[in-house]
Amino acid sequence: MDGATITAWMREIESSVRSERDTLVQLDSAIGDGDHGTNLVRGFEAVVRALNDETDARAGRLLILAGRTLVSTVGGASGPLWGSALRSGGRVLGDEPSFDDQKLVEVLAAALASVKDLGAAGPGDKTMVDALEPAVETLRAQVTTGAPLPAALASAAAAAEAGSRATVPLQARKGRASYLGERSIGHQDPGATSTALVIRALERAVATAS
Ligand code: ADP
Ligand code: MG
Repeated sequence: MDGATITAWMREIESSVRSERDTLVQLDSAIGDGDHGTNLVRGFEAVVRALNDETDARAGRLLILAGRTLVSTVGGASGPLWGSALRSGGRVLGDEPSFDDQKLVEVLAAALASVKDLGAAGPGDKTMVDALEPAVETLRAQVTTGAPLPAALASAAAAAEAGSRATVPLQARKGRASYLGERSIGHQDPGATSTALVIRALERAVATAS
C-alpha cells in the first residue's frame, strides 16, 4: 500500500458519505443538530480536492493533509476528531514510500488513540469510539493471526457496523447528544454510523488497489 491507497480511501469515503448524507442528517437530527451528514460531505469533498492538487505522493503526507483539511472545513465535533485521527495516522506512516498490513493496524490504532485523547470518550459513551474501537481490535486480531488484509478489513468493517448498531440502547455521555440525557436512548449514534462507512471505504480502497 502507498499514497494511492490513501487517496483511494479518501475518495471512497467521500462518495460513501455523499450517498448516506440524508441518513446521517436524520440520525443527527434525532439526537444532535442535524449537520453530521453535511459536515462530512463538505469535509471529505475538500479532502478529495486537496489531494487532487497535491504533488507529494507519500502516504503519510497525504493522510496528514487530509486531516488538516477536515479540521479547517468542518465546524462540528467530527471535524477536529477525524482531523486529528487522520493526522495521527499520517504521522505513523512518516515519509516511507509504502506500508504493510501491520502498519495499517498501527495507523488505525493511532487514529483511535487520538480520538479518545481529544474527545475523552470511552466505549459505551455512544460516540464514534463505539465503532472505531471494535474495528481496530478486530483488524489487529485478524492481521496478527495472518488473515489476508481484504478479509481482515471486511471483518473490521462488520465489527464497526455492529458497534454502531449497539449504540442504539446507550445513553450518550459525550458530545451534543449527551445534552439529551435519557432521551438519547433508542437512537443510533451518527458518528458511529459514519465511522463504519469510513472502515467500509478502506476495505473497498484496499480491494481496488490490490
Ligand atoms: P456536532 O456534534 O458538533 O454537531 P457532528 O454532528 O459532525 O458534530 O458529529 C457528531 C458525532 O461526533 C457524534 O455522533 C459522535 O459520534 C461524535 N462525537 C461527539 N463528541 C465526541 C467525543 N467527545 N468523542 C468522540 N466522538 C464524539
Ligand atoms: Mg451535529
